[in-house]
Amino acid sequence: MTESTSLSPPKRELDRLDVDHVRELLGEGSPLETALPAFEYRRSQQDMAAAVAEAFRDGGELLVEAGTGTGKTLAYLIPAVLSGQRVVVSTGTKNLQEQLFYKDIPLLRKAMKVPFTACLMKGRGNYLCLTRHAQFAMQPNFRQFQEASHFDTVERWAGITKTGDRAEIPGIPDRLDFWKGISARSENCTGRDCSEFERCYVTKIRQRAAESDIIIVNHHLLFADLMVRAGSYGEVLPEYDYLILDEFHQIEDVATQYFGLIVSNVRVEDLVRDCEEAWKTRAHGKRVSQAQLQLRRLRNSGLELFESFRGRDERYRLEPKALMPAQERLRDSFVKELAKVRSELSGIPTPDEVTVSLSRRASEIEMDLLSILAASDPEAVSWCDQRERSVALRSSPIHVAPFLQASLFERKHAVVMTSATLAVDDSFEYMGSRLGVATDRCMTLPSPFDYREQALLYVARHLPPPREKAFMDEAIAEIRSLLAASRGRAFVLFTSFQNLRATKRAFEGNLPYPLLVHGDAPRGELLERFRETPGAVLLGTSSFWEGVDVMGEQLSCVIVDKLPFAVPGDPLVSARIDLVASSGGNGFADYQVPMAILSLKQGFGRLIRSKTDRGVVAILDSRVANMGYGKRFLSSLPPYRLTYDRRDVTSFFEAPRAPSA
Ligand code: SF4
Repeated sequence: MTESTSLSPPKRELDRLDVDHVRELLGEGSPLETALPAFEYRRSQQDMAAAVAEAFRDGGELLVEAGTGTGKTLAYLIPAVLSGQRVVVSTGTKNLQEQLFYKDIPLLRKAMKVPFTACLMKGRGNYLCLTRHAQFAMQPNFRQFQEASHFDTVERWAGITKTGDRAEIPGIPDRLDFWKGISARSENCTGRDCSEFERCYVTKIRQRAAESDIIIVNHHLLFADLMVRAGSYGEVLPEYDYLILDEFHQIEDVATQYFGLIVSNVRVEDLVRDCEEAWKTRAHGKRVSQAQLQLRRLRNSGLELFESFRGRDERYRLEPKALMPAQERLRDSFVKELAKVRSELSGIPTPDEVTVSLSRRASEIEMDLLSILAASDPEAVSWCDQRERSVALRSSPIHVAPFLQASLFERKHAVVMTSATLAVDDSFEYMGSRLGVATDRCMTLPSPFDYREQALLYVARHLPPPREKAFMDEAIAEIRSLLAASRGRAFVLFTSFQNLRATKRAFEGNLPYPLLVHGDAPRGELLERFRETPGAVLLGTSSFWEGVDVMGEQLSCVIVDKLPFAVPGDPLVSARIDLVASSGGNGFADYQVPMAILSLKQGFGRLIRSKTDRGVVAILDSRVANMGYGKRFLSSLPPYRLTYDRRDVTSFFEAPRAPSA
């Protein structure tokens, strides 16, 4: 979104932000009580709102760990609205964005009776491009034939949508090959040269954002904006001085992705496809066939290069000067093909923003590739990331704190960072040091839930440690017993697909509960089926550890196979362990353990989502009980009743309202 001019934030003083008034609004007998049916007084929510108001007034950074059920959304939205400033609220996912915009903001508007404007803004790829859509509709060309019926749905929606946001389209899959070609990605956009510029959905959302007090984005869009600004390519978001980062525990991963480099077969394929489209509409005859030939050469050369990096490990480090001679030749020939494509582009008779952008993308791919393969930046690690259908060469910053400080903390008047999982050992030191956040202003707000009554933590300390061969068989038997006690209704969360698959093989066809397995259907569909299927058991890996909300009895048990330690052989993890060690720390104790504690806390957070939820978390990793560092895990987790005796689990489920101690 580079086409708009810079927009200054509204210059209003924070005179409307009275901390006592913020407290009153969330206090007992508050006017919100009548306006919000579900409102109940929560001391921790009130404290958080007051702290956010103070941070806005005084400036600086505020870290808040807000336990599940604290009501942190209202606690930051109320001072944000009352501040009268433009505030960007960034969440972890598009779903959370939508929940904020369509549920929380309207409630607040009704309850507070303070006029304010708000908008929901997603990345450009979510919006329909009017021009590209019209071109595609004239001559639809489906690489995946079965997608043709989905295009009919898109067509009907395109005729009535007011926002152009694809989230409105009912029943289409997340992955839709043709969507890339008709979406408003910046790579496809001719900006002000476009005849549809005024009607364009992206233009409209940008205008709305420029007029809004509250702009709701997700972390990916936020960081895309930071990167565009850093590259002096303009901006995605209008100027703002106040930022709220919800789900802040995700920021290190997102920052690593955006502050790093990546060149993959997918990126090359996108360039080739966009070039093909550009040539079709901008040149004729021999010129087009010549360009197509050149693009085929580029595609093939890229394929050969990336395939040469397929190795035994899914993720491995790329060392400096470690390319084999054959790979060096492939790299050089790929770079030559890129140069030829650039030269073809420069021969297009009427160059415009799209062709200039294509040429720039080809140059950037070359620069990024050479930089990644040189692996000479001591503050970054170069590595190869293989998936089933892609090979990506990456360079990732080992420490993101300096980037965050330079692009966020030093530039914004106030940054509020919150999540249900930020503290380790009752301290914010880990988060502060990893992300460069000052920890002089931070607070931990306990959940209002009565965990000792509502939940039981069972540690299977009799099981062998996960490294031992006997572990998996014994763990599967343990899971079976636990599911019998909970009558299904469980998430079984694994740290690896290997263990998930072993459990799936053991349970398929002989588990007396409906079995849902990560990978068998899209995540959203699996969750929907889990909610609707009585007694269902879901086997899942990392993506089910967080951001999943299942209230009520349907989810009564969460079983965790192993402590979620990051694999030390992973190139990024090992570089970070080395960095901690080189500054006098202990990579395991100061990095891997805290990171695993935060992940485990996220997994725990799936179970108790309301005051009436009850359930059991079972950890099958006996190291929690038998190793010294296990105490750090137990003391950082919510205060569940702890047992090592599985009979307590059975008693808990047999006597749901009065569990035996
Ligand atoms: S301005 Fe860009 S995104 Fe919008 S319709 Fe035109 S080409 Fe598409």
